Amino acid sequence: MDVRTEERRRRILDTLAEMYPDAKCELNFTTPFELLVATILSAQSTDKRVNMVTARLFPKYNTPEDFAALPYETLEAEIREIGLYRSKAKNIIEMSRRLLQEHDGQVPADREALEKLPGVGRKTANVVLSNAFGIPAIAVDTHVFRVANRLGLVHRAKTPLETERQLMRNIPKEQWSQAHHWLIHHGRRLCHARNPRCGECPLLSLCPDGQRRLNSATPKKAASLANAADDQTGS
Ligand code: SF4
Repeated sequence: MDVRTEERRRRILDTLAEMYPDAKCELNFTTPFELLVATILSAQSTDKRVNMVTARLFPKYNTPEDFAALPYETLEAEIREIGLYRSKAKNIIEMSRRLLQEHDGQVPADREALEKLPGVGRKTANVVLSNAFGIPAIAVDTHVFRVANRLGLVHRAKTPLETERQLMRNIPKEQWSQAHHWLIHHGRRLCHARNPRCGECPLLSLCPDGQRRLNSATPKKAASLANAADDQTGS
């Protein structure tokens, strides 16, 4: 690997670590099963909305036994504010039944077994492995995909799986889980999809995409971005 590239990546990760020292999963949960349910609910929804729903849901139902016994319509009514609530209700109930039938009601700490459960794909499995079991994994959502590509932590990755594989190659394993949270936090707070706030971003001097924006900006905008980059590098 190019030493300069490796050094740049290390500086990016160090900066993200300084920016988001307390970054962690923003879904509320107390058990691996609650996290699995919350993560299934979170697809195409916000963590905030999921937390509002689970704050009401989990005091009533929070075990595979509870959910396996629910009629679909009951769970649909409970989670109606969340997008795709019908298919999510079906998946959660069927996933709970499968846990009882095949895993003694326990969430397996194993990717292959997790991905066989209804409603559980690679991203959900990674979230559960990393946040419930402390197993290093990088779940690639829309923020991680966008920010990792912009920062050049991955090179022209076209799919979430390609992004995940490149990130796993380019980031030390002990930082995988934290890096996932750093990238999500950065995508939510500064590196927005439509209008990234490059002028306020401490990573501007290290970011290929930010530099491209700097070079193509109007002279006035470029001057303000350049000042921001100078402030961040101390030059
Ligand atoms: S400089 Fe801009 S594009 Fe690069 S990480 Fe920061 S906000 Fe995102």
